[in-house]
Amino acid sequence: MHFRSVCGATALCLSVGLSNFAGAQQPLRWFKGNTHTHSLNSDGDSPALDVARWYRTHGYQFTFMTDHEFVTDVAPLNAMFGGPARFLAISAQEVTQRTSDPSHPEGVRQAHINALGINTMIRPLGERYIANQSIASTYARNIAEIRKQGGVAQVNHPNFRWSVKLSEMVDLPDSTLLEVWNGHSTVNNLGGTDSSGNVFPSHEAVWDSLLTRGKVIWGVADDDSHSFKPEDADKLELTRPGRGWVVVRADTLTPGAIVGALRRGDFYSSTGVTLRTLAASRSELKIEIALNSDARYRTEFVGRGGRVLATVHGLNARYAITGNEGYVRARITDSNGLKAWTQPVIIR
Ligand SMILES: [Zn+2]
Ligand SMILES: [Zn+2]
Repeated sequence: MHFRSVCGATALCLSVGLSNFAGAQQPLRWFKGNTHTHSLNSDGDSPALDVARWYRTHGYQFTFMTDHEFVTDVAPLNAMFGGPARFLAISAQEVTQRTSDPSHPEGVRQAHINALGINTMIRPLGERYIANQSIASTYARNIAEIRKQGGVAQVNHPNFRWSVKLSEMVDLPDSTLLEVWNGHSTVNNLGGTDSSGNVFPSHEAVWDSLLTRGKVIWGVADDDSHSFKPEDADKLELTRPGRGWVVVRADTLTPGAIVGALRRGDFYSSTGVTLRTLAASRSELKIEIALNSDARYRTEFVGRGGRVLATVHGLNARYAITGNEGYVRARITDSNGLKAWTQPVIIR
């Protein structure tokens, strides 16, 4: 068996923990952050400063500013809220690509992709950003543009407007991120079947399908937040912040270190479950969960085909890798429905 840690690179091949050290270098730390949010610079309801303030004051160490076709200047945000190892706003864009499809009820399909860590706006293809080509080819072009700028690409909400089929994602390049949970209220995270029997799998099932095909894709939970006004806090139909995030392992809180860790898959994703430790080696995947009140926890270890390899109850879960699983990842669900997802350990 050739063990390929997220590909020679992911922390998941090391035994890692909150106090782990990488040789003589800086100690590695965990940083909580969000990879998808909007401000008044596109269709959010609040100035970028208020968006950064929300994340800064709610226990996050970073957020990417992903306005549609607008790269928000993060310098004023970092002047106000930034600080070494305290908080960082990172420049980014949501590339709001659409494609023409007369067979779709809306005539177009949505192929949005986040450009994380870029500095120059990427213009989507086509007039009014509607391309006359396949979604797969727009992904290829837009991801190439993102990588040219040193950024990392995140495929957003494939089931939004029932837009992206699995077959259109099978050529995504390795080290691309995929939203497995987006906090927006109308993106159909769990998938669905129409009255004719056409199936769109859940975003998480799409992830398993891609991993099963040997793709190295990292699963993300994020907000896609648009609504920050305090008076709207109880309007659940609005896309409020704080619904999904990533916890990234990096040596410093800098754009380069955060983007690099995302590219390597050195993070886990969450809607509310916190991991105390996350350790992986060629022989096991081991996690320890931080207890919240009196919640109970179920950890499912998932392998090829999305198959549940083992289920463990309690705060400590360990899976011994046999080498035949294809990949092994953990999905933790608590008794209130909150979740965490580790990145896969990929076994070649
Ligand atoms: Zn979008
Ligand atoms: Zn968005």
